[in-house]
Amino acid sequence: MYQLILENKSRMDLDKKIGILGLGESGYWASILAHELGYNVYISEQKNEVRNKYNNELKKRNIFVEYGEHSENFLKSVDLIIKSPGIPKNSTIMKRISDKKIDVMSEIEFASKFSKVRNICITGTNGKTTTVSCLFEVLKNKFQVLKSGNIGIPFSKIVLEKKLYDESDYDFSILELSSFQLEDCSSLSSEISLLLNISNDHLDCYQNFEDYLETKLKVFNNSKICFYNFDNAILSKRIKESENLKPYSINKKNGPYYFEENFIRSEVSHFSLSYDDMHLKGLHNVSNFIAIASICNHLGLEDDLIFKSIKNFKGLEHRFEFFKIINGISFINDSKSTNIDSVVAALSSLDKNVILILGGSPKEKDFSKICEHSHKIDKVFAYGDAAQIINESIGKKINIEIKKDFVQVVENSIKSAKNGQIVLLSPGCSSYDQFNNYIERGNSFKNIVERYYA
Ligand code: ADP
Repeated sequence: MYQLILENKSRMDLDKKIGILGLGESGYWASILAHELGYNVYISEQKNEVRNKYNNELKKRNIFVEYGEHSENFLKSVDLIIKSPGIPKNSTIMKRISDKKIDVMSEIEFASKFSKVRNICITGTNGKTTTVSCLFEVLKNKFQVLKSGNIGIPFSKIVLEKKLYDESDYDFSILELSSFQLEDCSSLSSEISLLLNISNDHLDCYQNFEDYLETKLKVFNNSKICFYNFDNAILSKRIKESENLKPYSINKKNGPYYFEENFIRSEVSHFSLSYDDMHLKGLHNVSNFIAIASICNHLGLEDDLIFKSIKNFKGLEHRFEFFKIINGISFINDSKSTNIDSVVAALSSLDKNVILILGGSPKEKDFSKICEHSHKIDKVFAYGDAAQIINESIGKKINIEIKKDFVQVVENSIKSAKNGQIVLLSPGCSSYDQFNNYIERGNSFKNIVERYYA
């Protein structure tokens, strides 16, 4: 189906038998890429359900799939495992793999071994998808670019479909990397890397915060030039500026782009970008934009062009999305805000009169950081599994109403809102207690608002 060029296969021993652990989107595409390359491929999926979506193609290719367990036979048959990012590194299966000393690799690193295109690797606790998407739009002005990875498009699929194993017209692959993908990367290389920020998240999957930080810092390995956010106290303390480690910051003294008097300004030109002109609002997005400008400047784009493209970037759904103003009330859907730092980022970008909807499945126990912005918050509505601990963390300082049900909380927040107030859904928790994902939660919020005013 895809005519691969043999020369590329020499980048990894062809005799290797490849085990794909977890048949999700990235596992499926890794197996197709590996099969196209001529490897023997075995898939092991813990869940019983037969995935019709993939089965036909896998059957056609005679790729072996076991469902419902990770058998000893599977482990005996393979000498390299490509692990789905969803499988925790402290799980029993990973312990079994480590005891057997089988090499493990992430799908993205595997795919990158067969790509001839230079990578730009981006990670951080928050802002990855926004930054990758905006950087893609800006770089398109000068280069042929692709985006892939945690953004939802497996790199194996891109490598195959865009024939990145061959000489291609593409200049850069912009790769969004989660900590789970970075865990199993050891040789992924990049022209440029970017670490946006770090704060508490996914700590149930790591021994401690240091372990999580170390994983994120892996994005700098094998990278020619690394950009990091100097305004993140943990990063500026940990990383020492050097020739290839470049800080960026919204403050003038710490980088070539900065935010001053409501403008993003540049030290290298007279061009600037007014906050009021930006489609996507938020101080956290100003920080993301400065990171993007730093990368684009490094790649030779002019400030004029950089600022024009950033200005036109519309932002993404469910991320600090101003979606409606009615009767003087603004509604912001920030359903993708699933940790406390992204709630704080949203609040930092607003001045006052906020009605905040928090809740869902808690990832953290202490929400008291939100109280730093208590003067801006008129009321909190908290819902779901997290409602009680949110109440315990902030209830003494902020007027709060708690309810189990998301719909009820949203309806009550709308009913209580008055001219000049902002209803902000920035839940600070994952959505899984009442939704399949943050997209369903954000859509539900928007639908309830639309219905109310219909
Ligand atoms: P990710 O891909 O890292 O999850 P997204 O771009 O999807 O990031 O945004 C997730 C949440 O983080 C949204 O609520 C968004 O408004 C917020 N966010 C975006 N950039 C930043 C930043 N630099 N710092 C803190 N929060 C941010």
